[in-house]
Amino acid sequence: MTYTPRTLRRALGRDRLRPRSGRPGLLARTPRAPGGRAVSREPARGGGREGAKIPPPAPGDIRIIPLGGVEEIGKNMTLVETSEDILVLDMGFQFKEEDTPGIDYILPNTKYLEERKEKIRAVIITHGHLDHIGGVPYLMPRIGYPPLYTRNLTAIMIKKRQAEFPHLKNLDIRIIEKDDHLKIGALSVSFFNVTHTIPDSMGIVIETSYGLIVNPGDFKLDHVDEVPTASEEEAYRIFDKKKVLLLITDSTNIENPGFSTPESVVHKNLEEIIKNIKGRIIIGTFASQLARMIHIIKIAEKYGKKVVIEGRSMKVNIEVAETSGMLTVKKGTIIPAAEMSAYPPDKIVVLATGAQGEEFAALMRMGTKAHKTVQINNRDTVILSSSIIPGNEKTVEKLKDNLARQGAKIIHYRTSEVYIHSTGHGNRGEIEWLHRRLKPKFFIPIHGNHYRLRLHAELARDLGTPEKNVIVPDNGSIIEITNKGERMTVLKEKAPASPVMVDGFSVGDIQEVVLRDRQMLAEDGMFVIIGSVNTQTGKLKKSPDIISRGFVYLRESQDLLRQTRYIIKKTIEDAARGMNPINFDYVKNQVTDNVSRYLFQQTAKRPIVIPVILGV
Ligand SMILES: [Zn+2]
Repeated sequence: MTYTPRTLRRALGRDRLRPRSGRPGLLARTPRAPGGRAVSREPARGGGREGAKIPPPAPGDIRIIPLGGVEEIGKNMTLVETSEDILVLDMGFQFKEEDTPGIDYILPNTKYLEERKEKIRAVIITHGHLDHIGGVPYLMPRIGYPPLYTRNLTAIMIKKRQAEFPHLKNLDIRIIEKDDHLKIGALSVSFFNVTHTIPDSMGIVIETSYGLIVNPGDFKLDHVDEVPTASEEEAYRIFDKKKVLLLITDSTNIENPGFSTPESVVHKNLEEIIKNIKGRIIIGTFASQLARMIHIIKIAEKYGKKVVIEGRSMKVNIEVAETSGMLTVKKGTIIPAAEMSAYPPDKIVVLATGAQGEEFAALMRMGTKAHKTVQINNRDTVILSSSIIPGNEKTVEKLKDNLARQGAKIIHYRTSEVYIHSTGHGNRGEIEWLHRRLKPKFFIPIHGNHYRLRLHAELARDLGTPEKNVIVPDNGSIIEITNKGERMTVLKEKAPASPVMVDGFSVGDIQEVVLRDRQMLAEDGMFVIIGSVNTQTGKLKKSPDIISRGFVYLRESQDLLRQTRYIIKKTIEDAARGMNPINFDYVKNQVTDNVSRYLFQQTAKRPIVIPVILGV
């Protein structure tokens, strides 16, 4: 008998068995509810009180809960709650991790908010990066579409993404102008400009009777020799003579000493390069580096060059910049790639995605000669205007190899004598500057994995914030400022914080079973056993069929196969003996157990074993 994928799927049906033998270090085995839906058995975090109704903060107290972004870099979301109101600050997502194969995005858990929808007065977004806006289309429906407040450019980016989810309700987006002072619920909220890699980035200030709660969002300083620019000084002047009750801020670059390179230096260097280099220039950067892309297009225009934009996310972001009025270019400055050959190479600047060596991004396709319109040659200069995100070292090397093999000259921030890239997050020196400038009474580090938050907490203590006034949170930690603003404590209860996965079209609680299967399939493959049993005698009709993928090369493992077939036959016949009718679930469990054990003994591998046993 042969099995096509369809007949196999039908034969497997709903009875598909889980492998019984877990592998140490993998996700715990998850029980199944009737109907086959996976139920997360993850222990409630925070001592089992998760989900229990946590009473609202007492009048006068302030509750802060980081729902995401404090055990990882990404999915930033923090809520501020009083007895009356909840404000949500940012709504990001995180890209998949190594231990979440096949998952598209990871979202913060919003259960706490879902249970208190009626109190949510606003979602306030600091800037348009995906780790701050990515969750909007997935999470707004869950929390009842509260009004969303942000600056113009961020609003356009959110709307642009929202258009990809046409089934959703329209968002109530309210644009914030620079000096707006808003009354949201019973709270007064104002904003200040911060320097980041995307324009219209802003910090949030919430006024309380005990002082200000400040969250600058992602920030750095566009300083000259560690002195902030005049416009930055102006922006932070709102804190003069003000009491800052609580600072909640970014820890991304806490490990990097000193001040980061100002973006203005990078801009100047890129201008020199674009002006002077002969031949075509191809610049790879992040689509999120919108300020830099805008600058590059402006200098290209200044030197009479044409700009080709390659990569969807980059095209989208440039369009957003044009719509918002942040980028105005003459008609004909940005040209389609197909028109490139009409101009001398000296007149061409290509802006491309993929400086991290992403497999399908424009630069990698150029590198592997798979790009439709851009063929690299030895007169090209490729500028990689980005740092390497930890974990991407190998793919970036591969990218450079591929480009170099085609003769391109490569300028990378490491090989370059001048700065052609700078981080978007303030280094330790800038973070220190912020603490000194604001002198907060209480401090909660956010945006970073636990180690970074710890370093940031140490810095705050070194700068004079008393130990008891600093709390390093986990996702879901419930922190309260009580006693008329005199005390900050963390409750023993936690808000639900297990991550929510976006997997294709489905958004749900952690799909442990699916993830574990993907991990096992990736590591050890699958092993399908197909047998037909005579329902009267409990005997196998013939030797069982075996299909495997990604396990061992069966043709060269005849001994293993023979022995496995023998084990299958013996297991089925022993298990089915004297049964009438045969309990197929029981028989299949026995087969899975015995075969998994045997294969592991022989090969030290644990493929997913799937027995399909048909009664005939
Ligand atoms: Zn950012």
